[in-house]
Amino acid sequence: MAETGKTIHLEIITPDAAVLNTDVSFVLVRALDGDLGIMPGHAPLIASLRIWPLVYEKDGKRNCVCVASGFLEVNGNTITVITPAAELPADIDLDRAEQSRARAEKRLQEKKENLDEARAQASLKRALLRIDVAHKYGGK
Ligand code: ATP
Repeated sequence: MAETGKTIHLEIITPDAAVLNTDVSFVLVRALDGDLGIMPGHAPLIASLRIWPLVYEKDGKRNCVCVASGFLEVNGNTITVITPAAELPADIDLDRAEQSRARAEKRLQEKKENLDEARAQASLKRALLRIDVAHKYGGK
C-alpha cells in the first residue's frame, strides 16, 4: 500500500504481463486531451493515453516506461494503466524497433491500395517512441 501523502501506487498492466508495480511520487502521461501530471491523493480520474512515454518519479529519480496507448485510472491513491503494450527502457529491443520503423515508413511511402494508413501510422509512432526512450534511458 502506498504511504499516504508522499507516494501513489502505480501499476502498468498489459495482456502479457504486469510491467510495473511500485510506489511513486509523481507520474506524467500524455492523455488524448493533453499532458496529465498526477501526484499522491489525486482525485479519481479515467483517461485515454496516447503512444507516448509515461514518466514517473521514484526516490527522487525520473524513470520512464513506453506506453502504447490504453487507459489510465486513478482511484484510491492507485494509478492503474491498462495498455496493449508497455516496455521498460532496459527491455526495449532497439534493432526490432528500427526494423518496425523502416517497415512502417516504407508502407506509408508506397501507399499501396490496401494500405491501412492509421495502422501504419500507429506502428510508426510505437517504433519512434521505443527508439526515443531507448536512446534517452538506455535499451538493449
Ligand atoms: P513489431 O513490428 O516489432 O512487432 P509493434 O509495434 O507491432 O512492433 P506491438 O504490437 O506494439 O509491436 O507489441 C507486441 C509485443 O511486442 C508487446 O508485448 C510489446 O511490448 C513487444 N515489443 C514490440 N516492440 C518491441 C521492442 N522494440 N522491444 C521490446 N518489446 C517490443
